[in-house]
Amino acid sequence: MQWETVIGLEIHTQLATRSKIFSGAPTDFGAAPNTRACAVDLGLPGVLPVLNEEAVTLAVRFGKAIEAEIAERSIFARKNYFYPDLPKGYQISQYELPVVGKGRVRILLDDGAIKEIGVTRAHLEEDAGKSLHEDFHGLTGIDLNRAGTPLLEIVSEPDMRSPEEAVAYTRKIHQIVRWIGVSDGNMQEGSFRVDANVSVRPQGEAKLGTRTEIKNINSFRFLERAIRFEVERQIDVIEGGGQVVQETRLYDADQGETRSMRTKEEANDYRYFPDPDLLPLVIDADFIERATQAMPELPDARRRRFRDQYGLSDYDADLLTLNRELGDYYERVAEDTGDPKLAANWINGELAAALNKAGLEIGVSPVSAPMLAGLIKRIQDQTISGKLAKQVFEAIWNGEGDADTVIAARGLKQITDAGAIEAVIEGILATNPAQVEQYRGGKEKVFGFFVGQVMQATKGKANPQQVNALLKEKLRA
Ligand code: ADP
Ligand code: MG
Repeated sequence: MQWETVIGLEIHTQLATRSKIFSGAPTDFGAAPNTRACAVDLGLPGVLPVLNEEAVTLAVRFGKAIEAEIAERSIFARKNYFYPDLPKGYQISQYELPVVGKGRVRILLDDGAIKEIGVTRAHLEEDAGKSLHEDFHGLTGIDLNRAGTPLLEIVSEPDMRSPEEAVAYTRKIHQIVRWIGVSDGNMQEGSFRVDANVSVRPQGEAKLGTRTEIKNINSFRFLERAIRFEVERQIDVIEGGGQVVQETRLYDADQGETRSMRTKEEANDYRYFPDPDLLPLVIDADFIERATQAMPELPDARRRRFRDQYGLSDYDADLLTLNRELGDYYERVAEDTGDPKLAANWINGELAAALNKAGLEIGVSPVSAPMLAGLIKRIQDQTISGKLAKQVFEAIWNGEGDADTVIAARGLKQITDAGAIEAVIEGILATNPAQVEQYRGGKEKVFGFFVGQVMQATKGKANPQQVNALLKEKLRA
């Protein structure tokens, strides 16, 4: 039997506001426990929530970025449940009327095809506090700093058919929220978390299978692994004659498996009802206009433009638009050097590798865009060869100055004087008569040996094209 995987994701992303969604308490991360929650966040008697306008602005901006309808009128509802990290007994969320309606994003599949994934809705809500299990023996600590932090919950259609597609979609949403400044997307700090709904069905079956929901996944790698494990598990259950139980599961990264957490509560267990403390949220065209006026060129548009304007491959264009800073960096180097392809090669090659190795983001790259452009210019005007340029790059990275400084200090200037190169070649041919004879006898592989000798003698500084041409000429003689 062939099984088809079906995945729908719920992504919680923390909105980049300075204060909470319904109070003036700060949202900064990492403060001492229980120093960032006020009476409103705890829902103490006698206080009233007041909606943070900036949170609405960010939600609207996100909605526009995914081509969604913005609801003219949406409602805040209370989702009632008891949990120690939710002392007020309910979470303010949106239920029947979310602020952002149906939208869509496009993902790039491995085979180069583009697939559209539907977004069902995105709604505003407040976060709960946090239960701390690790630092306490036999006890659970409660930190309410996070209570009332604004979240946007982005719910997808069950449109994904593999763990890879789920990761591509999640990366896309992550890229968009950071790109437009809606969220910092910091996954370690919990600002971007994913619940994965997973089911399987026989290939060709129209009806969806019973799903499980894996909660709170905070890395792309874990997302892929958790889904892969869960798909295998569900297939095993069904092929073993059993039935998948609709439930919430946890991914245990250490064990590499998902485990049952609780069977899924029926939605109506939450006794949703409109929050009587909050008026309906009414959004007019003016508000939308203001919220989106500073909208930057979006990732998809920029990727297409990079491809068309600079003649890049889809692959290069995709890599260079992973985030806005990287795209900005690329454009500066491409413009400065007038060679967009070479600029792309250096950024996606040497620079990406160095950043990756050092665990750095482009924004703090030790090699700035003008510095990289300066290096590329010295390749273009043949001051240094492409090979030596890697050495120069490393020196710039290590703080030895810009390309010209490094080239001068290390005496790396390329030798392009034909006479000088010829002299070196003649010396080498004279001291290696046996190899010369072999070459002239038809053993062309020996050519590489001569190139190596010349490069060694010139400490890699001889212009490689000239070395090749002159060697051929001399060997023919
Ligand atoms: P709930 O209200 O319980 O959260 P929803 O119907 O809103 O459930 O769906 C939540 C998420 O689960 C959505 O992203 C949706 O696409 C996904 N989903 C629903 N049914 C399935 C299924 N059978 N298999 C996989 N994902 C599903
Ligand atoms: Mg849900």
